[in-house]
Amino acid sequence: MNSVAISHLTKRFTEKTVFSDINLTIQDGEFFTLLGPSGCGKSTLLRCLAGLTQVDNGTIQLGEQDITHLAPQKRDIGMVFQSYALFPNLTVRENVAFGLRIQKLDTKQIKQRVDDILALVELGEFAERYPHSLSGGQRQRVALARSLVVRPKMLLLDEPLSALDARIRKHLRQQICAIQRELKLTTVFVTHDQEEALTMSDRIALMNEGKIIQCDPPEKLYIEPSSDFTARFMGQYN
Ligand code: ADP
Ligand code: MG
Repeated sequence: MNSVAISHLTKRFTEKTVFSDINLTIQDGEFFTLLGPSGCGKSTLLRCLAGLTQVDNGTIQLGEQDITHLAPQKRDIGMVFQSYALFPNLTVRENVAFGLRIQKLDTKQIKQRVDDILALVELGEFAERYPHSLSGGQRQRVALARSLVVRPKMLLLDEPLSALDARIRKHLRQQICAIQRELKLTTVFVTHDQEEALTMSDRIALMNEGKIIQCDPPEKLYIEPSSDFTARFMGQYN
């Protein structure tokens, strides 16, 4: 089972402690959101989960495995960032297939896997197009497909909707939730947007200045804030 246990996690940059002694448990198949104002440490925590930055103390367990010091490519993790890092000279199909190259699959298997995942993100008819001919929302769906095609144990999403306009953002929000539920994929989603967090998440960890202020299901955070900070932050819609 792909649950995540974060214990006593601490991250410092030379003169700054971003967070210390973070403890969180994320359930297998849960849509878990890190919510909080800019600079509170959300992306840094996500990068620790991905192995893109080293932790100074504490451990990260994914299922049965301690992944704290594993290289990113050995963690079975998919990640999508705010900006779509697609290869401009590769088609949608080639972009998505790229992640599969390191796995020992034959051409037919690769085609099947890519076709299946493009259907899932509703991009089947765009397979032979190049990124520049796609909208922002479509590019993010390619990025999502690329991270899902390797069948990760956990999906990490860092503000994947922030660069998109409001209408597309809403649609992609629903698509991400539908896909996550269909795959029952353990997901950690980072956002500063309360409405996004409230509508998408099973549970939300509200952060401020490197601390988890409250960790609860959306309704509880909204109806029973445990602090002034929670009440104020959840009350202000963008
Ligand atoms: P968020 O994603 O919540 O906006 P970040 O995790 O990006 O916040 O940043 C948290 C804090 O850590 C900020 O004060 C930021 O300036 C600092 N920080 C992030 N990355 C680095 C880095 N590579 N070197 C030094 N400080 C950093
Ligand atoms: Mg960030």
